[in-house]
Amino acid sequence: MPRMSTSSPPLVALLACVGSAAVGAAQTVASTPPVVWRPPRPVQGSLVVLTVRPAAAESATAVQGELAGEPLHFEADGGELRAVGAVPIDAHDSIAARVVFVRAGADSDTMIVWLPVARRRAPSERLHAAPDLVRPPDSVAERIRLEGELVQEVRQRAHDTPRLWQQPFLRPRTSAVRSVFGVSRVFNGVVRSRHLGVDFAGARGAPVRAANRGVVALVADLYLSGTTLLIDHGAGLVTGYLHLSRALVAPGDTVARGQLIGQVGASGRVTGPHLHWLAGYGHITVDPLDLLRLSLTTK
Ligand SMILES: [Zn+2]
Repeated sequence: MPRMSTSSPPLVALLACVGSAAVGAAQTVASTPPVVWRPPRPVQGSLVVLTVRPAAAESATAVQGELAGEPLHFEADGGELRAVGAVPIDAHDSIAARVVFVRAGADSDTMIVWLPVARRRAPSERLHAAPDLVRPPDSVAERIRLEGELVQEVRQRAHDTPRLWQQPFLRPRTSAVRSVFGVSRVFNGVVRSRHLGVDFAGARGAPVRAANRGVVALVADLYLSGTTLLIDHGAGLVTGYLHLSRALVAPGDTVARGQLIGQVGASGRVTGPHLHWLAGYGHITVDPLDLLRLSLTTK
């Protein structure tokens, strides 16, 4: 029968996060913290790496987990187990990670740890047109909904793909960033939307490269994002390349890190050519620039 560490209220308090300078940690009484994470206070809409320490891992036959509703994929490395997770952009002060230590004989221990979340500071942009004037017509609402589902299915499936990358992620373009992740679009003092990607400058036809190794999971012409290419990197991670003028790869292709996959365009609902780069951990959209800092091998 599984033992739930959180069933006893005093233990919940003990398991609450105890931050340190370098990493966050969940600590039981006078022992090595079984679960640590970095950065210690992840920002809304960012990635976090969770590590299970040997003492907790050694007697477990498997370690499973979940963070903010998405599964975690723990992998062994040098006696520790590590997994990438993501913090939603609308997360409040903290998010819960559930880590399950499965032991021989179907016994398991479940631990809930709370990761403190820092607010994302991003500039805001004032809209000069009323949102109703820039809103797509009702006649395409169903198309937009179905296309959104298609993209979400690809993102969900990335949890079933093994991790396909070993090396650090690259920028898909070396050009300037025109708009950062999280920018609020404000009209009449009200936030109407957040910019959930990074825009790179580029003329029509300029090269777009795969941020890392993966399998092309979708190439489609979508109403909002135009010619859209999604790469499944496995273990929950997907990158997207939007508003392309042309895709140079097809679904099912395995692409190498840095491979030319498409060309910058202005397809979809945009005012001019640029590359919108998207990053998702399952259904959670994160700042793609966070991928460049991601390392599963650095402690
Ligand atoms: Zn964009």
